[in-house]
Amino acid sequence: MNRDPLATPPIDDADVPAWVAATGVDGLVDLHVHFLPDRMLQKVWAFFDQAEQNYGRPWPIHYREPEQTRIDLLRGFGVRTFAPLVYPHKPDMAAWLTSWALEWAAEVPEAVPTATIYPEDSVTSYLGDALDAGARAVKVHVQVGDFDPRDPRLDRAWGLIAEAGVPAIVHCGDGPRQGTYTGMDVFTEVLRRHPRLTAVIAHAGLPEYDRTLQLVDRFENVHLDTTMVGTPYTQEFAPVPDDWPARLVAVADRVVLGTDFPNIPYGYHEQLAAIAGWAAADDRLGAPFLRSVLHDAPARLLGV
Ligand SMILES: [Zn+2]
Repeated sequence: MNRDPLATPPIDDADVPAWVAATGVDGLVDLHVHFLPDRMLQKVWAFFDQAEQNYGRPWPIHYREPEQTRIDLLRGFGVRTFAPLVYPHKPDMAAWLTSWALEWAAEVPEAVPTATIYPEDSVTSYLGDALDAGARAVKVHVQVGDFDPRDPRLDRAWGLIAEAGVPAIVHCGDGPRQGTYTGMDVFTEVLRRHPRLTAVIAHAGLPEYDRTLQLVDRFENVHLDTTMVGTPYTQEFAPVPDDWPARLVAVADRVVLGTDFPNIPYGYHEQLAAIAGWAAADDRLGAPFLRSVLHDAPARLLGV
C-alpha cells in the first residue's frame, strides 16, 4: 500500500527516510542547519545548557554528537542538500568564520558554501570575496550578533547580497529572546532600502508570525523558513495562529524547510511532522505544498 505522507507524518527519526520517499521528493533540502568549528560549537551547547537561566526553559540539545555523526544523521534522514550556517557574536569573527564555512562545505558534498556578515569596515571586502568564491547563502544573526541591520557599514553588503541573488537567512525575530535590534519593524527598513533582496526570515519571525507574513506578502523576494515553527516545543511559548495553514496559502511557494539541526531540543522528525500537519490542514496546500517546502522552494533559492 502506498503511504499517504499527509495522513501519516513521521513518528520518529527512523521513520523519516520512508516518509520522505512517500512524499515523492528527490531528497530534502534543509536551508537552515548549523555546523561550526568544534570549540565554538561546544560553547554554543554550553550556552543552551544554561537555557533555563537564559531563555526561561530548558533546551537539551538532541544531537550532541561528533561532527561526522551529525553529517551521517542528515544523510540518513534523506537530506540531499543543506546550508550549514555560521554566525558571529562580536567583531573580527565573520571573515574567518566565512572562510571556515567555505572550506568546510568544499569537503561535504551535500553542503552548499555559506557566508556570514557583521557590521565592520571589512564586511564588503570579505563578503564580496565569499560571493566570488561561490557562497550560495548568507546567515545574518541580528539577535546573537546584537547589531543593527540598518548599520551604514552593512548597506553595501545588503546590496551585494541582493545583486548576487543569494538568500540571506536573517534571524531578526524577537525569539527566543528579544534583542536590541530584533523585530520586524527594524528589518522592514532594510527591505525598504533593498526591496529586491532575497531574504529568508528565520523561524518565520517567531513569535511575530503576522508581521512576517505581511513582509512576505509585501516584498516579492522575501521568504520564511520553518525552523522550529509549529513543533510541540515552540507551540508551548510561541504558538502559530490557529489559521496558520490558511494564511500560508497566499505565500505557499515562499515557505522553505529549515530545522536548526543539530541544536534542537527534539528529534528532526518533529519539524517534518509539523509541516505535514499544515499541508494536511488545508486542501489548497496538500502534497504539492509539502514537496515545495521540503525540496523545490529551498532548492530554487540555493540554486541546486
Ligand atoms: Zn539557526
